[in-house]
Amino acid sequence: MTSILVFAETRENRLRQVAFEAITAARTAVDAAGGGEVHAMVAGSVGVGSVASDLGRYGADVALILEDAALERYNAEAVAATVAAQITAGGHRAALFSSSAEGRDIAPRVAGILGAPIAADVTAFTLDGDAITAVHPVYTGKAIATLRLEGTPAVLSQRPGAVSAVEAPRETTVESVRPAIDPASARVVVTQLGAAVGGTLDLGEAPVIVAGGRGLREAANFALVEALADAFGGTAAVGATRAVTDDGWRDPSVQIGQTGRLVSPDLYIAVGISGAIQHLAGMRTSKVIVAINRDKDAPIFTVADYGIVGDLFEVVPKLTEEIKAAVDHRPS
Ligand SMILES: Cc1cc2nc3c(=O)[nH]c(=O)nc-3n(C[C@H](O)[C@H](O)[C@H](O)COP(=O)(O)OP(=O)(O)OC[C@H]3O[C@@H](n4cnc5c(N)ncnc54)[C@H](O)[C@@H]3O)c2cc1C
Repeated sequence: MTSILVFAETRENRLRQVAFEAITAARTAVDAAGGGEVHAMVAGSVGVGSVASDLGRYGADVALILEDAALERYNAEAVAATVAAQITAGGHRAALFSSSAEGRDIAPRVAGILGAPIAADVTAFTLDGDAITAVHPVYTGKAIATLRLEGTPAVLSQRPGAVSAVEAPRETTVESVRPAIDPASARVVVTQLGAAVGGTLDLGEAPVIVAGGRGLREAANFALVEALADAFGGTAAVGATRAVTDDGWRDPSVQIGQTGRLVSPDLYIAVGISGAIQHLAGMRTSKVIVAINRDKDAPIFTVADYGIVGDLFEVVPKLTEEIKAAVDHRPS
């Protein structure tokens, strides 16, 4: 029977949004190929198994729980070895990761251990007979490559936000998994994990991103961007261009683009951003793009669904008030 193993990411023993997106994509691919199973594996410290029912809610038939006190901190070697062993033991057709920082670290390790083909940062895929067809944006998103991965198993990582998570409840069997290697034997030891700066919502998880560029003139004016993000009532994260992070106005971790984060939120609001090709590479797959720029010829308007030509210092406060009012009056 066709089956896909999804590595479902957790943070502090809670599933991340990208985990639901990956399970949804795997469920869709398996069902479209005539049916099969989705096995979702989580790895973490004692207690991580409590997420099993959520795995089932999004369509996992089997929840594989790797629970070990030594996995309290991220341990790529032990997790990759265990995922690889599970793929071999389960005879899975493919393994699916998120193309997040964690997935980008673990997926190639798994492909290396198995000698399997890998397609990274895909936005869609289908099981196609003995092969897998995957779609992957290239040349900073200017072209879309269709890749064919021959052989079983294959490894894929999926761009955060490329697929919307949809509930598809299944009856889920829960199995515990033992680490394939002793986590204590890992050659790289994570000694500390720091909380991300700039709020609790990660750019890869946020349904709305408000990003600011050099048009804001100085770091203090980012308060406008933050206020607009706050108006969404906890669903928006703040991003920035490289011009801004290079100048030290914002932390480099929130840079969006070719050399920063790749994001695909439901709504991306670009404030005072010109739309250089390197920036577009990181956000052009967003579902709806709104651009605010006083230059009507700014390249950002070529990818925007809605463009506001105007001075951001006038437009953004008004937009913030309108969004706040709309969110406050939203039916509960
Ligand atoms: C190898 C390489 C990798 C790179 N990687 C990245 C990357 O990952 N991410 C990234 O973002 N960049 C990246 N860059 C940099 C990129 O080329 C651009 O320089 C950068 O994106 C520009 O940032 P910006 O839009 O904030 O600034 P600018 O290009 O200076 O644009 C500012 C915009 O604000 C508008 N503006 C000014 N005042 C106002 C106002 N009052 N109201 C409204 N609009 C106003 C202007 O019309 C202008 O369009 C990379 C460059 C290289 C060479």
